[in-house]
Amino acid sequence: RRQENEAKRTTDKLRSPICAVLGHVDTGKTKLLDKIRRSHVQDGEAGGITQQIGATYIPTDEIERQTAKVKKGSKFEIKVPGLLVIDTPGHESFSNLRSRGSSLCNMAVLVVDIMHGIEPQTAESLEMLRKRKAPFVIALNKVDRLNGWIRTPNTPIQLALKKQKQPAIQDFETRLDHIKLQFAERGINTELYWKNKNIREYVNIVPTSAHTGEGVPDLLFLLVSLTQKMLAKALAYSEELECTVLEVKEVQGYGTTIDVILTNGTLREGDTIVLGGLEGPIVTTARSLLMPAPLKELRVKNAYVLHKEVRAAQGVKIAGKNLEKAVAGLPLYVAHTPEEEEVYKEEAERLLEDTLNAIKTVEKGVCVQASTLGSLEALLEFLRTEKIPVSAVNIGPVHRRDVTRCTIQLQRDPKYACILAFDVPVDADAKRYAAREGIRIFEADIIYHLEESFRKHMEEVKQQLRERYRNIAVFPCRLQIVPDCVFNARDPIVVGVRVEEGLLRTGTPLCVPSKDSVDIGVVSSMQFEHKEVDLAKKGQEVSIKIEPVSGEKKMVGRHFDVEDELVSRISRDSIDAVKNYFREDLSKEDWRLMARLKSVFKIL
Ligand code: GDP
Repeated sequence: RRQENEAKRTTDKLRSPICAVLGHVDTGKTKLLDKIRRSHVQDGEAGGITQQIGATYIPTDEIERQTAKVKKGSKFEIKVPGLLVIDTPGHESFSNLRSRGSSLCNMAVLVVDIMHGIEPQTAESLEMLRKRKAPFVIALNKVDRLNGWIRTPNTPIQLALKKQKQPAIQDFETRLDHIKLQFAERGINTELYWKNKNIREYVNIVPTSAHTGEGVPDLLFLLVSLTQKMLAKALAYSEELECTVLEVKEVQGYGTTIDVILTNGTLREGDTIVLGGLEGPIVTTARSLLMPAPLKELRVKNAYVLHKEVRAAQGVKIAGKNLEKAVAGLPLYVAHTPEEEEVYKEEAERLLEDTLNAIKTVEKGVCVQASTLGSLEALLEFLRTEKIPVSAVNIGPVHRRDVTRCTIQLQRDPKYACILAFDVPVDADAKRYAAREGIRIFEADIIYHLEESFRKHMEEVKQQLRERYRNIAVFPCRLQIVPDCVFNARDPIVVGVRVEEGLLRTGTPLCVPSKDSVDIGVVSSMQFEHKEVDLAKKGQEVSIKIEPVSGEKKMVGRHFDVEDELVSRISRDSIDAVKNYFREDLSKEDWRLMARLKSVFKIL
């Protein structure tokens, strides 16, 4: 069937392209989406714009009307039936739109604040767009904040620029040049869209204001013209169903429903649908296809209209049985025969496994759990930039078995014995079990909060471990007894010493290399200028008390001499403890002394 459908696919009939909006926080992504949606409604002519599930549909007529002034004189013809703009701005909406591993989003709008230029999340978004080879345009937003900007609401940007006086033009050009340079430094050529002669090499820039609407018609025009020019093949309508689950949601009166974006083909009420589930593939009947009531009639919240069939590209809500365990971010299939059902079940299962398996994990690291593939990716991306290693991932609620999987970290590296649960519930059994086993579970629905509590946890664990290993970790030092400063020759030995090299800490076992490395005891206390101290550094002179540990009590003048050098007695275990828990306490020079002592004691 797939091949048959593919053969019939033609660019004579295109489907609506799908667009998502990305960019740094506060650049105006939400405002821009609002402007695209609402300006038209405010104009009094609703123009057939429809609010869909998770998306806004802008039909061709409306785009024609809005862009009339932009394309005045050009012969440009709109071939797509409309534009589907994803409502949720940000990374996640974009990552969630996938089918068979590739992005379903046809064109992205990368919003950059003209006053700020490239910001950290702009760079992140760029990285993701590059990885997915997704075409995009840059909306240089907030032009109304330029010096002396004269407002010309909802005007095409070139006309709006013509209205400006010198200060605004100057400000615009300086900032534009600077931002173009910033992109160039990241290997991306950019150009104002009306000057762009090579759309495959140069990314189009469209200056906009989400407040006053300058440039918004241009943005719509660009999205349509670019997708038509560059992506006609990808937009060819086909009866082959392409559909992705965006969200799994409880809705009063309908039970658990799934919000999907239908990118190709037709969905019908009563279809047998197959989709990926947390506990294996789900096969169920699409009991009803729901779309929000048209904007004007939307008096009651959650008012849905039933549809017998829905044709791509659209956002729809599907109600049916057994959807509780559906996984967002994966494709949905329609099976027409029992054979197809089997094929799709296998495909759904494999796709989920492949996606999770493709995530690189390491032996020692935290366990990560999120609600959807998209949010999981967002979290992983974040942990990667923060250099927090990940040992295991999962999607869906945290159960006892997830805790079990995490317990292995207790042996590998206790500081990673924790689960970061992003926007997912943790069941009571899992909580109890985790508390008993000593697994920390961090819950949050904002990534930033997860990071905060995890960092605090790392610091606590570090302090605990330093406390626990304090007496095992021996710092390297080389001491010389100060002449005439033997205050007590034995039991305990009390002498004045000079730290020639390294760090002398209380608790350090000392020995005499020149006398067959005889052990003379442990430094039990130390005074510097008559005050008790814990640590002495190179060059300091301190008086120390050396308590015998076991066996024969050693004596200055009998077992060793005043001229003999004293060093700390290290071992394999002590070196490891220092490496693991006190690494930063030692300087490079201290580590070099450690290496020399290692050869003195013939430690491998
Ligand atoms: P988001 O975080 O990218 O979704 O940004 P928002 O759409 O929430 O906008 C962040 C702030 O910038 C809000 O206070 C907006 O009112 C403001 N803002 C957004 N677009 C514009 C614009 O074009 N001009 C001006 N002056 N302010 C804007």
